[in-house]
Amino acid sequence: MNLKLVFLLFIISCGYTFAQDGGKFKVVLDAGHGGKDFGALYHGYVEKNIALNVALKVGKLLEQDNGIQVIYTRKTDVFIELSERPDIANRANADLFISIHCNGEPKKAAFGTETFIMGSTKNASNLEVAKKENSVIKLEKEKTKYDGFDPNKPESLVSTVPDAILNNSIDIASKLQDGFTSTLKRKNRGVKYAPFWILNKATMPGVVIELGFVSYEQEGAFLNSEDGQDDMAKAIAKAIQSYKKEYFTGGGSGEYKEPVAATAATRPVAETKPADKEKIVAKPDNRPVAAETAKGVVFKVQISASGKSLETVPENFKGLTNISKDASGAVIKYYYGSTGSYDEAKQLLVTAKEKGYTSAFVVAFKEGKKITVQEALGKK
Ligand SMILES: [Zn+2]
Repeated sequence: MNLKLVFLLFIISCGYTFAQDGGKFKVVLDAGHGGKDFGALYHGYVEKNIALNVALKVGKLLEQDNGIQVIYTRKTDVFIELSERPDIANRANADLFISIHCNGEPKKAAFGTETFIMGSTKNASNLEVAKKENSVIKLEKEKTKYDGFDPNKPESLVSTVPDAILNNSIDIASKLQDGFTSTLKRKNRGVKYAPFWILNKATMPGVVIELGFVSYEQEGAFLNSEDGQDDMAKAIAKAIQSYKKEYFTGGGSGEYKEPVAATAATRPVAETKPADKEKIVAKPDNRPVAAETAKGVVFKVQISASGKSLETVPENFKGLTNISKDASGAVIKYYYGSTGSYDEAKQLLVTAKEKGYTSAFVVAFKEGKKITVQEALGKK
């Protein structure tokens, strides 16, 4: 394999680059709903108002940093079509898309904060959230923009978000949930995957934050209060700044940094079908090792992270063989394959994705220590 190909694969795998123009970190704050679309409404607490207040407060905090440009999808109580929200971010060539919402459910029993990233799920309550947040499409006259997408069937939306963007989305989501729960002591419902139309359409890392449930009286009161909104806004702004510090080098360099391992406790757990009865495929490992990579470097495909310790047998991993695990952190990470060749690692990644591990990604180790893929390829 020639070096040009290695480099090309590297570009494909680490496709996410920051916007190069202006040198400022651009964040889009998207206050959910607005105008005739109220969002969740319980006990007199209105989602569209809370979302707007919090978005404006976050913006005010971030605007104090002259390295940040804040772009709002709305600053007043107006109706915006769903398709316009990611379009605003895409047109601005933004670095981060943050959509702010509140939850609500008729039993009025659920509470806590959760942050969503784009992905498929079989979890009914996650799908229900996506359905609610996508449902604004039903209020719009022009539905052709949605390519036949039925907001009542969010599960039909297949993620087209590249890995590099998804990894960064997981990281900002983890930072947000960390702030809500460790600092503010809100109940942590976690980082979750769900098929959100806006997140699929945005071309940069993005999340949908559900601040909490306005249907839960106590939480609704907190979110509706000035203090509550200030607290949530501070936590969001802090997470965004920490994300910017970590990934954005500024000055228009547009340098990409591979995400570090997401905060273990909030990393979403990939859904694995237990005891998948499909045939075990031939082992793609143990093929000759290409010579381009630095000595002692091993690539693996991270397929999931879970609090649950699973036996590394094919039955537990959709028929995949050569599974290893790392239980040194707060969650156990599961890897597929092991190869010295980045080219082969990419093939392993394709196999993992075909098996249903849609958010799998390549990781690199040197002498057992995790390094970035760039370092492994000698680009740093
Ligand atoms: Zn909403």
